[in-house]
Amino acid sequence: MKLPSKVVICEVGLRDGLQNEPKILNVSEKLKLAEGLIEAGFKVIELGSFMNPKAVPQMADTDELFRLIGNFEGVELRALVANKKGVERAIDCGCKKIKLNVSASKQHNLANINKTPGETVAGFAENVDLALKNGLEVSGSISMPFGSPWEGLIPIDDVEEIVEAYIGVGIKEISLSDAAGVATPKQVYDMCCSMQKKYPHVKWWLHFHNTRGMAMANILAAMEAGITNFDTALGGTGGCPFVPGAAGNISSEDVVHMMDEMGIATGIDLLKLIELSRNLLALLGHAGDSYIQKAGRSKDLYK
Ligand code: ZN
Repeated sequence: MKLPSKVVICEVGLRDGLQNEPKILNVSEKLKLAEGLIEAGFKVIELGSFMNPKAVPQMADTDELFRLIGNFEGVELRALVANKKGVERAIDCGCKKIKLNVSASKQHNLANINKTPGETVAGFAENVDLALKNGLEVSGSISMPFGSPWEGLIPIDDVEEIVEAYIGVGIKEISLSDAAGVATPKQVYDMCCSMQKKYPHVKWWLHFHNTRGMAMANILAAMEAGITNFDTALGGTGGCPFVPGAAGNISSEDVVHMMDEMGIATGIDLLKLIELSRNLLALLGHAGDSYIQKAGRSKDLYK
């Protein structure tokens, strides 16, 4: 089995997890959680998003959170941005890394904004320029490249068209996000091999929701294909408003545990992570979707 010696995990619970929660955490609760994640060893954290606060009230205080947290040496704190207003908010509050997103579904893009996904990405040029001019880093995300509720499987040519559009506006870091939870390990392996071969200068991230229990197998398949950057969320929090029955992201503690057990370095302290996750779920008032929260580490069983 071909496995990497280390991986980088981006904790997305503060954004993807909390944006779907009926209970809105206050900024000091978020700050405490973010500082805890940094202390546990995370080097990449998605702190929030700059969306319309009326549409996503859970993320309304992302600006304040960035101001309060300041800069941590060697830690990348990123946020999701939808438009120019979002880029301006990111610049104003000191956010240094933004992520743009487009759905890979042609039907979804055409129905919502009357553009193909590639045209949508080409339209990001002004936002990318504004961000770069102000010293921000920019990455891009492609949502549902493995399949969407609107048209099922997405042809790989369509996904490549979006990748090329991102490259065209100067973005070289791209995340493939299975928000619908439909990707299979074989599909992930094939897509990761083909994307890396065709676009070797792109830094790839994979983002899996565990809606059908395939996320962990997909991470393994992506590692076999040479991918080493993954998004995960504490306690398996998260969801997707567009996808029926959507489950959360694959849980951070489950992924870090698997990596630990296989000798793949993450730099993350699993015990601290388990505690942070437990505290978050207590705060949210519901159980998460994490095997490790239920069963504990394998190591604890052997004691
Ligand atoms: Zn997600």
